[in-house]
Amino acid sequence: MQTAQRERLAENLAEVRGKIAAAADRAGRSSDDVRLIAVTKYVDLETTEALFELGCCDLGESRPQQLWARAEQFAARPVRWHMIGHLQTNKAKRTAPVLSWLHAGDSLRLLKAVDAAATADRRVQALLEINISGDAAKHGIAPDDAPRVLEEAAKLPHLEIRGLMGMAALAGGVDVARANFAALRELRDRLAADAPDNIELTELSMGMSGDYQAAIEEGATMVRVGSSLFEGIER
Ligand SMILES: *Cc1c(COP(=O)(O)O)cnc(C)c1O
Repeated sequence: MQTAQRERLAENLAEVRGKIAAAADRAGRSSDDVRLIAVTKYVDLETTEALFELGCCDLGESRPQQLWARAEQFAARPVRWHMIGHLQTNKAKRTAPVLSWLHAGDSLRLLKAVDAAATADRRVQALLEINISGDAAKHGIAPDDAPRVLEEAAKLPHLEIRGLMGMAALAGGVDVARANFAALRELRDRLAADAPDNIELTELSMGMSGDYQAAIEEGATMVRVGSSLFEGIER
């Protein structure tokens, strides 16, 4: 990667981190409570390595094949891999061993498959993906089904259910996104009040390049940002 490109990446990252801190501040929260998941699905290995060298240790991928390849390439380095895209059940076996966080826990069937592929000394932290926008094309558990799925998922020994993940509606802009995020937080609060004893729903994974500041104001603890990091970067 050329020096100018590396500098641009560092600037973009600093800008995103600055906006995260400002949004946390507006919400009366600490920026330490918001984790940046750098989404590397668009960029090559070199750019991904440059991001890691700039201090991004939480990296997100949405395609299992690319996640497997990169996890291997980074095996000696302390990267936490986040699966943010839909995972087919038949890919769980290969994915679980390299995964730190499953964001797209979008069905009980998938959660069971990941649990079966994980082990007691390498448990997977998982989020329930909720279809908060009602967009038919989106994956995710319907909000009404979430209590039942949580109750069953809480029994899986190799998963730690840590919270919820959601994506805002495609249409409607940031106001609709904000309402979707608030609804996800409220659902989390209701589920947490009734959750099985072994479950603490502390995490809310919500917000992407277009809406992560609103998401943080609405309580996001993880934001998944790709495009904003790579503006002006050749991919
Ligand atoms: C690609 C992707 C992101 C990152 O999107 P940007 O708009 O590029 O920041 C976040 N979450 C999911 C689930 C994605 O697939």
